Amino acid sequence: MSMSERNPGPGAPDPLDDMAPCGLDCGRCLSNPGSAIARLARELRAELGGFAALAERFAGMDPAFGAYGGFERLLDRLGGGQCTGCRSGRCLLSSCGVKDCAAARGVRWCFQCPEFPCRRTNLPPALHERWRANNQRMAARGPEAFFAAMRKQPRY
Ligand code: SF4
Ligand code: SF4
Repeated sequence: MSMSERNPGPGAPDPLDDMAPCGLDCGRCLSNPGSAIARLARELRAELGGFAALAERFAGMDPAFGAYGGFERLLDRLGGGQCTGCRSGRCLLSSCGVKDCAAARGVRWCFQCPEFPCRRTNLPPALHERWRANNQRMAARGPEAFFAAMRKQPRY
C-alpha cells in the first residue's frame, strides 16, 4: 500500500499534504514559515544580532559588507514568510489556478484529473511546464516515490 493510499492515523499530519496539486514542495518553500529555509534565516538573523550598525565599518575592510542592508532585508523576508502551503495558505503566486481547480474537481494532484494535461493552470510558461512534468512523474512513479525523490534534491 502506498503512502498516498495509507491513512496516517487520526489527527496525524500526512507528509504528502506538503506536495501541492502542481507537484511543488510547499514544505520546503521559502515562503513557508515552517521550512528549513525560513528557520535557518531566522537563526542567522538572530545570530548576527545588531551587526547592521557595524556593517559600514566592516565594508572598509571588505566591500562585500556594503551589501549587508539588502542581505538583512532578505533574511527578514525569508524568515517571515506566511504561507503554510497550497492547501492551507495563500500562494505567493496569486494568479495560480491549480489549487481551486483541483479542489473543485476533487483531485489531490492534477495527474488524477481526467482533463490532465489541461490549459487551465494560469501559470507562467516555465511553471506550467514544471506542473506538467511533475504530474507526469507522479503518474508514472506514484506520488510517494516522486515525493521521496524530490526531497533528495535542492528545493530550487
Ligand atoms: S502555496 Fe505557499 S508554500 Fe506552496 S509554493 Fe506557493 S507560496 Fe510556497
Ligand atoms: S482541469 Fe487542469 S488544473 Fe484543473 S484539476 Fe484538472 S488538470 Fe488540474
